[in-house]
Amino acid sequence: MRVPLIAGNWKMFKTKAEAKAFAEEFRELYKDTDIRAAICAPFTNLDLLVDAFKDTDIMVGAQNVHFADEGAFTGEVSAAMLEEIGVDFCIVGHSERRQYFGETDETCNLKLKKLFQGPITPILCVGESLEERDAGKAEDIVKGQVKADLEGIAADDVKKLVIAYEPIWAIGTGRTATPEQAEEMCAVIRKSVEDLYSEDVADEVIIQYGGSVKPANATEIMNQPEIDGALVGGASLKAEDFMAIINF
Ligand code: PGA
Repeated sequence: MRVPLIAGNWKMFKTKAEAKAFAEEFRELYKDTDIRAAICAPFTNLDLLVDAFKDTDIMVGAQNVHFADEGAFTGEVSAAMLEEIGVDFCIVGHSERRQYFGETDETCNLKLKKLFQGPITPILCVGESLEERDAGKAEDIVKGQVKADLEGIAADDVKKLVIAYEPIWAIGTGRTATPEQAEEMCAVIRKSVEDLYSEDVADEVIIQYGGSVKPANATEIMNQPEIDGALVGGASLKAEDFMAIINF
């Protein structure tokens, strides 16, 4: 049984004061909700959010991690540092990190392996560009990412994984994939996991759709059978909008 998960991705938004104000409002709105929800925030807000949500079911995630235990990696943060704060999730391989910060399938794979040594659940992002979609290559690109990113990862770990299908052309553009396009690609991802592992493993993986999810389109996206949740950027910055998505 896959339990839906709606995760917010704040990207590089919100100072501590802004995060605190959001947390106070969101805690109240989230009361009596049974849909699983998480906020993936900048490192500087993680401590504050874990503390603000400690007596609630709201979970907290980071947006990146380094794959080494420790070392001379200026500006990076380790899995142990995130574990100490008590975060539940960590985004790996977001397209913005692949595009602007040199993230590759190889580094995603190393990050997944590192996270699976501890308690933090990775949210692995995959997705094709507009050129790749227009060239009819969307399926092959996404299958290739799944295969490369999961290389050498044990089946029991993959069962715990969250994969977010995020077509790059739908991120922050207001141009959402149609529910049919999103469903089709989430099915491709699940089939890839089945081919690499087994039907049992594929059945347990949570697959989210991400890319311009808003209160107005959340219901039709969440109603697709292969879509188990959403990774929400812009619309997770306002507590009311994020809550409206959770209440799809
Ligand atoms: P968006 O971002 O909802 O603002 O399109 C989604 C994401 O990048 O995770």
